[in-house]
Amino acid sequence: MSTHTQSPSGTDQSVAELLAELGIEAENSGAFDGSWIDTKGELLTAVNPSTGEPIASVRQASAADYDRVASASQEAFAVWRTWTAPSRGEVVRQLAEELRKYKEPLGRLVSLECGKVLSEGLGEVQEMIDMADLAVGMSRQLFGLTMHSERPQHRMYEQWHPLGPIGIITAFNFPVAVWAWNATVAAVAGDSMIWKPSEITPLTAIATTRIAQRVLERNDAPPIFNLIIGDRIEVGESMTKDRRLPLISATGSVAMGRRVGEVVASRLGRSLLELGGNNGLLVMDDADLDLALAGVLFGAVGTAGQRCTTTRRLFLHKNIAEEFKARLVKAYGSVRIGDALDPNTLMGPLVTAKAVDVMMDAIEAAKAQGGKVLYGGKRIDRPGNFVEPTLIEVPEQLPITCDETFAPILYILEFDDLDEVIALHNSVPQGLSSAIFTLNMRHAERFLAATGSDCGIANVNIGTSGAEIGGAFGGEKDTGGGREAGSDAWKLYMRRQTNTLNWGTELPLAQGVEFNL
Ligand code: NAD
Repeated sequence: MSTHTQSPSGTDQSVAELLAELGIEAENSGAFDGSWIDTKGELLTAVNPSTGEPIASVRQASAADYDRVASASQEAFAVWRTWTAPSRGEVVRQLAEELRKYKEPLGRLVSLECGKVLSEGLGEVQEMIDMADLAVGMSRQLFGLTMHSERPQHRMYEQWHPLGPIGIITAFNFPVAVWAWNATVAAVAGDSMIWKPSEITPLTAIATTRIAQRVLERNDAPPIFNLIIGDRIEVGESMTKDRRLPLISATGSVAMGRRVGEVVASRLGRSLLELGGNNGLLVMDDADLDLALAGVLFGAVGTAGQRCTTTRRLFLHKNIAEEFKARLVKAYGSVRIGDALDPNTLMGPLVTAKAVDVMMDAIEAAKAQGGKVLYGGKRIDRPGNFVEPTLIEVPEQLPITCDETFAPILYILEFDDLDEVIALHNSVPQGLSSAIFTLNMRHAERFLAATGSDCGIANVNIGTSGAEIGGAFGGEKDTGGGREAGSDAWKLYMRRQTNTLNWGTELPLAQGVEFNL
């Protein structure tokens, strides 16, 4: 087992000390409903992707454990919804404070468990804090509209009520931030929740649940932040089929979203789907190439290509293509690859050995379909799941460039007509993030217009990766259509009620209908 992690300040802390600080034991329960349940399922071991060594284990929960957690969440909801929204916001404000206190150990655990580099591990906890701060503000602004009634002496308005206990399914690559996108907003909205994290990252979920529960206890609040760790079908589908949960918010692959979407729709529940992307970035011949290079590099290599917003397709204008490719190859050659917890590392490992195999298969497929490797393409021979970031030039859109391979492969295509490249850019099934680098205002506006990028996120002179929480986050087409985080995404966590109130002495009917005896 790797015994030490480096803190950003340079002080060494043993893994055992780190786990102890966060309340992680060698073997942990896989279910929480206000207290930790004595789960009896198969042992799940979290593995450090930088070394291949085990970190700690979790006894997985069963369908019966899930049922118990769901009942507790229902009871918690019945109480929590009676708290005023600002008093719920106060609890979330304290959650932000507690997360500030634990930012460093929790950020390090994120890096240890999912392999993202330390500044991103810490950044992920910062995102939780930012979300909590944003949600505190929302707790005083859960506003409805009023509209003029067509009937005299009537008042008509909409109000938003808490929705119920909700289910939150998260992916391995944002093991705690995605919970916070959902949980902080759902909490101020008056919902309780059950979190089913990725089986690859159970420890960060346990640590987060412990932090959140302490805050609830301090406030005598009901247990609204619940957890279930278990099999995708036994536990995952118990959750998605459960009519007690009016909303399932699920983040992960398109295949998972298709299944979850079907199951939830079959019981007429609401689903919020945040699924895979296949994000394109256009560089025009009038672009600031230094800026574009930095944007492409972080977008394609950051998080070892394991972000939903990772840049996967690069469209280069013919006039700058040769120069840009040469600069990109040089930059790829200087990316420092290594242990995620080493502060000097820019690119950590892939999350599992299987992810490395999937990447290698995609590279072979790209070559067979006409692609040419410009840089990388190989595994790195050392313990852990390390690969070379890879650049592949392709002559046209290929079957493989229409898929999301969750790894640092960047496909490069050339173009000379903006209208044509926008059509090509949009011709993939996914629709999450997109970007154009240009200093020409007409090109920028063309990309952002209704006939431009068809993605949920479209940026100018910013890469595809690294969204801010203030806006609504999500994508179209196979990405699932969901929106989370800021703007008016809170509405998905509440139920809307339209109220019409008659303060007159007559009972006029709408649309002039007469019904007199
Ligand atoms: P995954 O689809 O393998 O798993 C995601 C989660 O879904 C896990 O918790 C898993 O246990 C659960 N799950 C799978 N099948 C289920 C079922 N039938 N019922 C209930 N739960 C089920 O994804 P992953 O490998 O963990 O994450 C990578 C994927 O997530 C990529 O496709 C990436 O683009 C996507 N992602 C999207 C966003 C976004 O906001 N759009 C954010 C992060 C990751």
